[in-house]
Amino acid sequence: MGYIPKIILPPTPSAADLLRTYKLPALRRFAQNFLLDPRATSKFVACAGNIENKFVIEVGPGPGGITRKLFEHGAGKVAAIEKDIRLFPALQTLANAVDSRLRLYLGDILDFTIESVIPEEITNQHGSWESDESSSSSPIHLVGNLPFNIAIPLLIRWLKQVSTQSGPFSYGYRIPITICMQEAVAGRIVSDALLHQRGRLSIIFQNWFDCRIKHVFSGRAFVPAANVNVAVMQLIPLKRPTVDVTFDLLDKVTRAAFHTRNKKMSITMASLFPEETREENTKELLGRAHLKSDTMCLALSVEEFGQLAQIYADIISRPRPIHEQLDRKINTEELTFKLGETYVRTEKKD
Ligand code: SAM
Repeated sequence: MGYIPKIILPPTPSAADLLRTYKLPALRRFAQNFLLDPRATSKFVACAGNIENKFVIEVGPGPGGITRKLFEHGAGKVAAIEKDIRLFPALQTLANAVDSRLRLYLGDILDFTIESVIPEEITNQHGSWESDESSSSSPIHLVGNLPFNIAIPLLIRWLKQVSTQSGPFSYGYRIPITICMQEAVAGRIVSDALLHQRGRLSIIFQNWFDCRIKHVFSGRAFVPAANVNVAVMQLIPLKRPTVDVTFDLLDKVTRAAFHTRNKKMSITMASLFPEETREENTKELLGRAHLKSDTMCLALSVEEFGQLAQIYADIISRPRPIHEQLDRKINTEELTFKLGETYVRTEKKD
């Protein structure tokens, strides 16, 4: 994006004033807990790092408290996607003050194609993850103080796109994501091995992102107050994933591992295989991964989970002998097996 001089905002009503002017109570339906105090919005924006002259996509701007701070911190342009139409007159007041630098979109972020709002001047540049030494060179930033119930589904969607370098991540930039979530959930994402918060989220996020908690707000910082502490989390896509594995595979193996947290790997991994081959496949999986059968899933590193996923993929991709694929109810008198949708029956001849 060409250089855009830092904006000096003309006097504009604050987000808190706008909520009063437009008589906008926070709606429980949209899980609205607004960040209105200018020191708090400034803190949030500082967590995003250097956004000077960058194109920022803000998810769920609410009445625009964070949006306004984005401009004060030097953002070049902002695209804001909001689901609650009541907030648009308030957001439009800010849009009028910053000329064409703020674009507003009405929509649900969970089915919004965010790459469609990125200007051509950025998509045409096309960077490269290989040559991109630092995420600060990304001309795009993703930010949002979103409802807690949206944060994880949205991050998983972005994680899948990072894993295939698709969607907004298809232009060669390691786009930093700065997002609010419950402190407890953020703790699970950044957790190291052997800690009690360690779980599926730790493994899948750490395989593709550098994950950091940048700040923790007390719930009282929000209007109305949130009933838990809120972490500002920053996720920066790694240049290369820790282990080269598909999202679906790593997700499947970590789901199985952490389904019942206190069991040994030999028990949790067994659930990945069909009953007939369970014992031998589990033994092979753990043997090839050099893991003891009584290893606990909490103790495993991201690399070890990645390796397990790769070996699991290898085992299940092997053609299985026909006798293992046969219907379990058959006996030696009569063979019934499934070919597509057709059952073929072989009668025993005298
Ligand atoms: N970012 C603002 C702030 O900090 O004051 C608002 C925060 S409030 C927790 C979350 C905002 O996201 C609300 O404005 C809400 O209407 C909006 N929102 C909720 N679900 C959404 C969705 N699926 N897509 C887009 N926006 C959503």
